[in-house]
Amino acid sequence: MNLTVIGTGYVGLVSGTCFAEMGNTVTCIDVDENKIEGLKKGVIPIYEPGLEPMVNRNIDNNTLLFSTSLKDNLENCDVAFIAVGTPMGEDGSADLKYVLQVAKEIGEHMSTPLIVVDKSTVPVGTADKVKKTISDELKKRNVEIEFHVVSNPEFLKEGDAINDFLKPDRVVVGSDDEAATKKMRSLYSPFFRSSMDRLITMDVRSAEMTKYVANAMLATKISFMNEISNICELVDADVNKVRIGIGSDSRIGYSFIYPGSGYGGSCFPKDVKALKRTAEEHGYTPELIKAVEDVNDRQKFVIAKKVVDKYGEDLKGKTFAVWGLAFKPGTDDMREAPAIYIIKELVKRGAVINAYDPKAMEEAKHFYLKDTPNINYFTAKYAALEGADAMILLTEWKEFRAPDFGELQKLLKSPVIFDGRNQYDDEKLDSMGFEYFQIGKKA
Ligand code: NAD
Repeated sequence: MNLTVIGTGYVGLVSGTCFAEMGNTVTCIDVDENKIEGLKKGVIPIYEPGLEPMVNRNIDNNTLLFSTSLKDNLENCDVAFIAVGTPMGEDGSADLKYVLQVAKEIGEHMSTPLIVVDKSTVPVGTADKVKKTISDELKKRNVEIEFHVVSNPEFLKEGDAINDFLKPDRVVVGSDDEAATKKMRSLYSPFFRSSMDRLITMDVRSAEMTKYVANAMLATKISFMNEISNICELVDADVNKVRIGIGSDSRIGYSFIYPGSGYGGSCFPKDVKALKRTAEEHGYTPELIKAVEDVNDRQKFVIAKKVVDKYGEDLKGKTFAVWGLAFKPGTDDMREAPAIYIIKELVKRGAVINAYDPKAMEEAKHFYLKDTPNINYFTAKYAALEGADAMILLTEWKEFRAPDFGELQKLLKSPVIFDGRNQYDDEKLDSMGFEYFQIGKKA
């Protein structure tokens, strides 16, 4: 098929590239000229494992093209995917300005029948708005061209996005038109060679809702476990043991029950807020969802509080080596990363930060921590430790899992670790003479 993907961020670029990999001809569109110029030369603006070689292979095969012009890429296009951002609006709802701008442009320029797919995460009712926006433009042009709006929310995870897209747990297609559903089924069939059961079709509104509910459910698991970790610490229990104890129940399971420094990223915070907003707009007070958010807001400060409890409110003259800035491993994405909040809390009290992250340092330096003083960026994890009062681990990158603790002991002023992701064996650290602070267990 001929596909157009509008928006070349984490979702658009990965989706477009994977569709090209499956034999479609895909044109990826973005308003960001620098991004498109770079992509044409194979320069990938984000870090996503496995993406770069796949982009380059498909550029070489002429199956993946890049352009800033949506207008020039709608003719004879079978399916147009809207994959632009839906950031948090001032009132917490999803801001649809980019989505509706794209819909308007589609209406202004489409010339052949088209399936328009909302791949961005959008609140219930957005497909109707997209449909109306396109219809209004067609009416203005006094033309009638058949089109259908389908909801196909994306469930990929940054850091494992290629795998998720090529081997999805499920693909949700919300459509009110049988022919459009059939086309989507045929587009996705190469991804489901063993069984099509994982392509789940439903009405448009349910599909729109499914994405928010999935993210809210995952955020709930995280906040639940973080709440439990705080209680564990107060009653002198070990949340790491409790986690194993409850996960062994197959009704609960082990996934997503790690205690930590709270969820971040571009999706959970904004999607939980948007779902809360949707409920409120319909006169419903979503108590549980509100609590999920409140617990998360508090959790981001737990590690900073442990540092302050040990060293006092005044952190002048103290240096902390921070390992990990990205909101999770496998990505350079710093949006809503707990590290931003924790570092600012410490810097506010006079501390100096020696930061190291394998991929997210440019994002931190130039955007998210740009205006935060007293941060030194290091290109190697051990170099960041030299002369620091303690190490603070904030992202569970694999390279931090089994460090040389002897080296840590040598480089740090004193052997102190604050672990915001509970990565280490406290008994081992204890026996080596480390003071080890983690989430959900007394030091
Ligand atoms: P992003 O911010 O990384 O990328 C969005 C891109 O859209 C940018 O490159 C921007 O320049 C471009 N854009 C904006 N307006 C445009 C226009 N009018 N025409 C063409 N391009 C335009 O966003 P993202 O992380 O890829 O997320 C996109 C959507 O997918 C969001 O709704 C998000 O919630 C959802 N989503 C994201 C993830 C994720 O892990 N990032 C996962 C699932 C769903």
